[in-house]
Amino acid sequence: MNNVIAKLDDSYKILDNELLSKYTTYKVGGVAKYIIYPSSIEKLVELVKLLRENNIKFKVIGNGSNLIFSSKEYDGVIIKLNELNKVIYEDNIVTVEAGYSAIKLAIETANMGLSGLEFASGIPGAIGGLTYMNAGAYLSDMSRIVDEVTVLDKDNNVVTLKNEDMGFAYRRSICSEKEYIVLKVKLILEHGNKDEILALIDNRRNRRLNEQPLEYPSAGSVFRNPEGLYSGKLIEDLGLKGYSIGGATVSTKHANFIINENNATAEDIRELILYVKQRVKEEYGIDLICEQEFVNWE
Ligand SMILES: Cc1cc2nc3c(=O)[nH]c(=O)nc-3n(C[C@H](O)[C@H](O)[C@H](O)COP(=O)(O)OP(=O)(O)OC[C@H]3O[C@@H](n4cnc5c(N)ncnc54)[C@H](O)[C@@H]3O)c2cc1C
Repeated sequence: MNNVIAKLDDSYKILDNELLSKYTTYKVGGVAKYIIYPSSIEKLVELVKLLRENNIKFKVIGNGSNLIFSSKEYDGVIIKLNELNKVIYEDNIVTVEAGYSAIKLAIETANMGLSGLEFASGIPGAIGGLTYMNAGAYLSDMSRIVDEVTVLDKDNNVVTLKNEDMGFAYRRSICSEKEYIVLKVKLILEHGNKDEILALIDNRRNRRLNEQPLEYPSAGSVFRNPEGLYSGKLIEDLGLKGYSIGGATVSTKHANFIINENNATAEDIRELILYVKQRVKEEYGIDLICEQEFVNWE
């Protein structure tokens, strides 16, 4: 791998032997052999081609806000998209590269009197990550505003897909199944009243601050809500608020959040997720589905 990486030109920012805990919102994860920042979509495509041709393992990440990397070394390349951050505004149409912060975009569009991204104003991911998993909140999600997504497919072709070809469903898109890498996204927003949009965002921010343990590292809600029920309520009713394994704790503020309270390892978090899942299964016969993604555990 080292000699392949050495072939990359100076436009790439390359870091080696970096702790993944610096790149995930849970603040856990072992060392990654390489973290590489492509400076443009073209450079990302070039990098992915090179890694694929040389059978080098890689993982594209946005803000690491839905990931649980194990403490093992990641013997491959983590591709960070922070430098893919161009955005073009044309009336109510926004074309934005995958590395752009969703929160930043939500605030910017709100200030332009554009409505549609209010749901994303509290989701700490990048647009590529939100699109990949059709992130959402408050009964809205990316599928409501996406017009087109430009992806790199498995054969290294750049392809543009319309919304209806994205296979959007609850917290998923076709990207995981087809191993598509999101390069840029075209969104269609609606003209609205700027003050009302900003007030809604403010209101939701306050709700999140009151209801969620945002003062601690986490990756948001752990489990999907079963039909007609709330995972947080099920967990709370089992008396599990405040229950800890190692440094990982079921939040006392919101039982569907696991927080890194005290230098937790990824393994502490995983064990706690499995424990909660098992208790819910025993008590209610319900199989909770974890919304967070485990990486590098096999
Ligand atoms: C405090 C907090 C609150 C949250 N609230 C919500 C919420 O309300 N709703 C919600 O849905 N989620 C929420 N989340 C979870 C998380 O922010 C979202 O799932 C978000 O979409 C993840 O984006 P990311 O850029 O961090 O992706 P990452 O966590 O970096 O990656 C997630 C997955 O997407 C893939 N991926 C990332 N970028 C690309 C790309 N460009 N192309 C292809 N694949 C890519 C990665 O490989 C990985 O498989 C919350 C998280 C936190 C910490």
